[in-house]
Amino acid sequence: MGKVYLIGAGPGDPDLLTVKAARLLERATIVLHDSLVSREVLQLIPPAAETIDVGKRCGQKLLTQDEINQLLIFHARSGRSLDRSAGKSSDWSPGGSPDAPPTSKSTSHDEVIRLKGGDPLVFGRAGEEIEALRRAQIDFEVVPGITAALGAAASAGISLTDRRAASQIVITTYSRGSDPAASDPFAVTPQLDRAAISSSTTLVLYMPGADYAEVASRLRAAGQPEDLPCVIVSNATTPKQQIRWTTVGNLAGEAKLPAPALLIVGRVATHQIQEITAAAKHWRGEPIDREPKQVS
Ligand code: SAH
Repeated sequence: MGKVYLIGAGPGDPDLLTVKAARLLERATIVLHDSLVSREVLQLIPPAAETIDVGKRCGQKLLTQDEINQLLIFHARSGRSLDRSAGKSSDWSPGGSPDAPPTSKSTSHDEVIRLKGGDPLVFGRAGEEIEALRRAQIDFEVVPGITAALGAAASAGISLTDRRAASQIVITTYSRGSDPAASDPFAVTPQLDRAAISSSTTLVLYMPGADYAEVASRLRAAGQPEDLPCVIVSNATTPKQQIRWTTVGNLAGEAKLPAPALLIVGRVATHQIQEITAAAKHWRGEPIDREPKQVS
């Protein structure tokens, strides 16, 4: 029986992979990856390895979550230690059973790599895969990756916590009206959780979509003030990275940045050096004497 590694590929820059992830990718014989995984990371996989894109393309799902689970189980079960001599096939078609009978090809794998963008445990549906692997009694290990929030914060030079202004981080999303995931019973909540957000929260919004007016109205509905800084980070840590500094009030008018993108919202989400201090003074009721100073 093979072992499944659920590996975080990080936000894009291959240098941000963990040493363990890089080592496992280097010796991989089969990799099932999401579309979010960067080309540069995929290039670390040996050319002889079998790679399967199980992600979404243009909003179109290539495989359902159930099919991905079955595929993982199938490849792990045809692992070398069990079937080296049996010449069991790795051929598999969506909708088939994980115990699909061997057909033509004879490939087997000690290690099955499931590669996900960012960290596997943050909006990565890893929970469903872990459950399926546990049910099938297949050994697995999670190798963490740098989640997009941390990659984006690093790129923008934002400290997500700051003793002057932010004592908690909320990593969140909501389901959008036009999003097919909205009809999914396991989908995320339709609204931002207002109760989870205070004036000392830094909110990181994953999967914001391209409708910034809607994002702004969700933020307002969650009690976020118009002047609250927010930053949109697109393609963080990649050569295509773009950073847009704005506020909740101005967000709706911003030009759209390409996916994948996220928003960091909160007093820390600014590059105006006086802003964070001013926010802290405001809470203490002290007068704010200086105009914010713009840097870079
Ligand atoms: N498991 C991933 C998140 C998958 S959900 C992680 O831990 O990062 C997909 C969302 O992640 C995207 O819609 C976007 O909001 C965010 N994302 C992923 N990579 C990103 C990147 N390089 N730059 C900005 N946002 C990114």
